[in-house]
Formats: sequence, C-alpha cells, structure tokens
Amino acid sequence: MKQSSRNLLLQIITGLMILTLMIWQAKRPRSVELDSGYRQTMGTFARLLVVAPDREAAENSLDAAFAVFDRVEALMSDYDPDSQISRVNRDAYHEPVAVDGQVFEVLSAALEYSRLTDGAFDITVGPVVQLWRDARQGGQAPTPEAIARARENVGYRYLELDPETQTVRFGRDGMLLDVGGIAKGYALDRAAEAMRQAGALGAMIDIGGDIVCFGQAVGGRDHWLIGLQDPDEDGNLLLRLKIDDRAVATSGDYRRFVVVDDRKHSHIINPATAEAAEALASVTIIAATAMHADALATAASVMGPEKALTLIESIDHTEAILIPGDRPQDILKTSGAADTIE
Ligand code: ADP
Ligand code: MG
Repeated sequence: MKQSSRNLLLQIITGLMILTLMIWQAKRPRSVELDSGYRQTMGTFARLLVVAPDREAAENSLDAAFAVFDRVEALMSDYDPDSQISRVNRDAYHEPVAVDGQVFEVLSAALEYSRLTDGAFDITVGPVVQLWRDARQGGQAPTPEAIARARENVGYRYLELDPETQTVRFGRDGMLLDVGGIAKGYALDRAAEAMRQAGALGAMIDIGGDIVCFGQAVGGRDHWLIGLQDPDEDGNLLLRLKIDDRAVATSGDYRRFVVVDDRKHSHIINPATAEAAEALASVTIIAATAMHADALATAASVMGPEKALTLIESIDHTEAILIPGDRPQDILKTSGAADTIE
C-alpha cells in the first residue's frame, strides 16, 4: 500500500473512532453523581448514592430521602417517648390510639407478615426484646420465669387495627410493639419514592445494611452492585449481587447482638420460645420492596434454614441466600437467587 493511501485509511479510521465516541457521548445521558457519606439515622447509619441530571436535583433528592428518615424516626422510634409508637405502647391497652397514616401502613403490613410467617415475624415481640435489652445492661440472661412472663404478652393476634378510625388497640395489658424489623425497610421504600419525585435518575440507599436500588447506576455501570459480607470474618466479601429496581435486606448476628453470660445472643427473637434465634448466621432476602425484604429477613432468621427456604421459594419475585450458623460453608439459596449473583 502506498504511503498516501495508508495515511488516508488511518484518517478514516481515526475519524470513525471519534464519531463513535461522539455518538456514545450523546447517547449517554449527562448526569451528576453524589455520595451522601454516612449519616446517623434510625439508630444506625445511612449512606446514599444518587445519579441525577444536575447537581441541584441530586442535592434535592438526598435532602428528600433524609427528610423521610427523620419523619419515620420521629413517628416510630421506641427510644423517643414522644413518638407515636411509644404513645401506642403506653396507652393502647387503655384506649384506642389514633396514628398517622404512615404508622398505620407499617402496622398493617407487619400484621400481614406476622400471619404469612405464622408468627415467626411478630410485631408485638417488644416485651421479649425489652427483656433481653435489660439483660445486656445487667450482663445476665433473664430468668426462665421472666422469659415466660414476657412471652405471655407477645401475640400479634391481640393487636387490633381499625382502618376506619386508623386506631391501634391492644387486647392485653403489657403488650409492646417493636417496629425494628420492618421500619428501615419502610423508610427505604419511601425514600426511593421521594428521590424519584425530586428528580433522581437512580440511587442506592443503604440504612444499616438494608438496601434499595433504582434506576441508573453510578459510573455508567449496567447494574447496581451490592456486596454481601461473610458473617464470620468481619469485612470479607462473600459475593456480589446485581440489583436493579430491587431491595436487599440482611439479618444476622454478626453485626448486632447482645452479650450476656459471655455469650453472644442474636437481637432477633423467636417469639415461640422467647429465646434468641441462632440457627442462621446470616439471612439475605432480595425482593421488590425493602419492607418485604426487611420483614422476611427477620422472619427467616427465626424460621431456620429449611422452613425459611420453603417459604421464600413459595413467594414470587423474592429470593433468599442463607448461611447456617453451624455449617457456614453450605450457603443455601432459592432457585432464582443465582441470577442475581455476579
Ligand atoms: P437488623 O436490625 O440487624 O437489620 P432485622 O431487620 O432483622 O435486623 O431487625 C431486628 C430487629 O427486629 C430487632 O432488633 C428487634 O427490634 C426486632 N425483632 C426481633 N425479633 C423479631 C421478630 N421475631 N419479629 C419481629 N421483629 C423482631
Ligand atoms: Mg428485618
């Protein structure tokens, strides 16, 4: 080939390459990415990544999400004596207590999960959770008598919700609601909705390891990627999940537990025995909504590997990855879970 024609060819190739690059740039929506960093909320930390058309929309989306967290916390925290959940816990045996629509929504959903899981998830597990929290302070396990007494006051069947008046009533004295196994999920779904409305093109929202993702991922990637930690070796990455427009919730005793009598006890309680649920070292649920994933992760921890796998397998668009406490090398998965693993 002559020098001149080789030059021409080179020019054409370079020209084509530039053109392709320009088309690619034009097709790729221009966007801004922001990272909120970790911020304290709902008794843990939240971190958000947002993709938005411009900086203003990105900042508005982050603000909208944190406003949701603040609202949910103000309504539902059981550490805050002025929250609606605290008011219900104080008064609902004596009189029906009217609650905000958001609280009613969470309690109604919680009742459904209680029924669906035959009480493995129980929104009225409060008296037993409280007992173990006190035990942590004293460093001693509760007595069998104290456990039996607390257990008598647990039972979602004694919880009365009236949709007409949006009121809550307890059928037994001494009942306590505990929204710790569902409120984060609810807040995540609400936050995702608020961020979309504020103009976000995509986001990953993480509250204490429960995560929801939607839309465009950061870095122009095709999927949001979520790392699952090894329950034993702190920080070790076990596997990565590809998550699009879905939620992931993990329950396990490796991050939160109570130490009494020099033993670690899971903060998840089996309502049937009032003991800590220990059969699973880690439960991860992948579902369409974060509330679904959160509540089912708590329930699965109580149910143990076999029952949990059967239940989750029977629910559409919901997958589980379970790590048994006594044989962590045998990771159990529902049949659809493999599709989400990178
Ligand atoms: P994490 O808080 O680590 O994400 P979970 O979502 O599983 O874990 O929630 C655990 C919390 O749920 C406990 O701290 C307690 O407040 C509450 N809880 C414990 N046992 C149950 C249960 N059987 N049903 C419903 N809620 C529970
Ligand atoms: Mg949960």
